[in-house]
Amino acid sequence: MIDDLPPLREVIARHDLRARKSLGQNFLLDLNLTARIARVAGDLSGTDVLEVGPGPGGLTRGLLAEGARKVLAVEKDPRALPALHEIAAAYPGRLEVVEGDALALDPGARLAAPWKVCANLPYNVGTELLVRWLTEDWPPRWSSLTLMFQREVAERIVAEPGTRHYGRLAVLAAWRTEARIALTLPPEAFSPPPKVHSAVVHLAARAEPRHPADPAWLSRVVAAGFGQRRKMLRASLKPLGRPPEPLLEAAGIPPTERAEQVDLARWCALARGYAAA
Ligand code: SAM
Repeated sequence: MIDDLPPLREVIARHDLRARKSLGQNFLLDLNLTARIARVAGDLSGTDVLEVGPGPGGLTRGLLAEGARKVLAVEKDPRALPALHEIAAAYPGRLEVVEGDALALDPGARLAAPWKVCANLPYNVGTELLVRWLTEDWPPRWSSLTLMFQREVAERIVAEPGTRHYGRLAVLAAWRTEARIALTLPPEAFSPPPKVHSAVVHLAARAEPRHPADPAWLSRVVAAGFGQRRKMLRASLKPLGRPPEPLLEAAGIPPTERAEQVDLARWCALARGYAAA
């Protein structure tokens, strides 16, 4: 055991934490596994950690047992709070629990930067949070993100140009981080088991983005390009409101190219072109 608290099955039964699909609840019950996920985040001693969606607290306990200086855990489901307060009592002064929506919380007032983010994310808000973290001002207030996703989403985050999973997430992740899949997990690792495999992705913030670009423009241009990924870029970029051909040519991209073929350097050049136009 990683701590002296009761096993998670007992915690869930005692607090009647039946998983709710609407909140994306698939819980991790194996504390050795949650400690292993916490270790993917690297040395936690002396580091504050933001956890989104702690639920009954399996990963929270992993993060605390692995030495995090402080964990800020944001949970939308009030049913989970009593279980989380028990963990807080076992780790005095190291766990702060906030009830609410992670999309509405700015952790800046409660954590010392740069913090690490570690979470078994609710699937319905996971990609939105990731895009926000990747497009904030740089350098960011976090040093790394260690995040559980459905395996297919994880593959989209680390995808290379020219492959079927390459898209907006891969471009944004490669632009500002070193991203890798650290672990894959079968459905049985969770309770209840989801339909698909899952994977833990580790994204380490780069000191500087790989190429200059405005995040809002890069995000917009890439979203338009991949929004209609089978079309040539001269057609898929039209909704951005300017004739795409000259901007594509200035970025070194043939107007007949499809989004899948464009590497990071040229996406950034295109975003700079749109921003200047
Ligand atoms: N971390 C726990 C674990 O690994 O067992 C639970 C993971 S479960 C996949 C996702 C958790 O996120 C649930 O506890 C759910 O209630 C919570 N959640 C869902 N939407 C949320 C939101 N917008 N903000 C904060 N927490 C949310």
